[in-house]
Amino acid sequence: MSVYWNRRARGLSPYVPGEQPRDRKLIKLNTNEHPYPPSPKVAEAITAVLAEGAERLRRYPDPACTELREAVARRYGVGPEQVFAGNGSDEILAFVFGAFFEGAPEPSAASAKPDAEPVLFPDITYSFYPVYAKLWDIPFCAVPLAEDFYLHAEDYCVPSCGVILPNPNAPTGRALAVRELLPLLSYQLENRRIVVIDEAYAAFGAESLIPCVNEYPNLLTVHTLSKSASLAGLRVGFAIGNENLIEGLCRIRDSFNSYTVDRLAQAGAAAALSDTAYYDGVNRQVAATRDRVSAALTGMGFIVIPSAANFIFVRSPDMAGADFFARLRERGILVRHFNKPRIADFLRISIGTGGEMDALLEECKELI
Ligand code: PMP
Repeated sequence: MSVYWNRRARGLSPYVPGEQPRDRKLIKLNTNEHPYPPSPKVAEAITAVLAEGAERLRRYPDPACTELREAVARRYGVGPEQVFAGNGSDEILAFVFGAFFEGAPEPSAASAKPDAEPVLFPDITYSFYPVYAKLWDIPFCAVPLAEDFYLHAEDYCVPSCGVILPNPNAPTGRALAVRELLPLLSYQLENRRIVVIDEAYAAFGAESLIPCVNEYPNLLTVHTLSKSASLAGLRVGFAIGNENLIEGLCRIRDSFNSYTVDRLAQAGAAAALSDTAYYDGVNRQVAATRDRVSAALTGMGFIVIPSAANFIFVRSPDMAGADFFARLRERGILVRHFNKPRIADFLRISIGTGGEMDALLEECKELI
């Protein structure tokens, strides 16, 4: 705390990212990074920019990320005007809260609608959402998931200033089918409210809503290259939706920082998006490892929530979450524990290589 902090800085409760340990001997299964390297085309594209000489870095990058957006558009069959690119999807999510969800009602509207409507998201979800809501001073309502962490989309068909959901959800890994989400999109469309679907983990086994963006002008899908493109270190994300939604995001970005994605990142990300064959292969491998490990842990008596992501959410039959976490860490395996209501006995375990997951299974067998 400092006397120089303003009221906003004093009132924040910042997000705490998973640990990035310097000890390389740890098996790192705590931040959902990809276990396999990015496509070789990424390094080639970045090297090609550097090979053009220092002149390339002397100049600002393209603020509109034109080539990167064109690569996204080609890959997903949309128009480049339906694409926004950002410095990781976290930045895009921060812009989403700033652009689409309403804070306190305008003074002139106060008599008609005295209470601001909240943004809706699940009680168990990506813990950055409430942080962004507080940053932008937006009221929120954390809608409880079912006992088994199933998300009932109809719970979000209520008045609000908008909805944001990850599909698959994090940290549970549970996914909904597109048909389960369509009534929610229609309900919120009638109420002129946006629905944002955070598809950070969709490429590991969930259906994407990208094909619905033309039919639903209130739908924005948000994506990252950190997970399924194995590029967490490059910091690139993108969003797809109606042109007017993209313009809303640009308005926030251009009131903040025009050059959010650097020149090397733009080139590397565009190259990654063009190598679908490579990523289909490694992502299928991650999904197969996930299913194998889930079955093995279930066989040992662990509770494993069905996952469509590159992580699993696991409860030990006999250990509290904090103990389970500490004992895996003593054995050199780092996972993520959220000390929060309802999930304090679960660990989120990212899917590593086959060998890393065999080591995890070995330790789990010894622990019970
Ligand atoms: N959405 C979800 C659900 C996530 O788990 C993450 C990763 N922590 C992100 C978005 C952000 O990813 P990035 O900023 O690396 O694109």
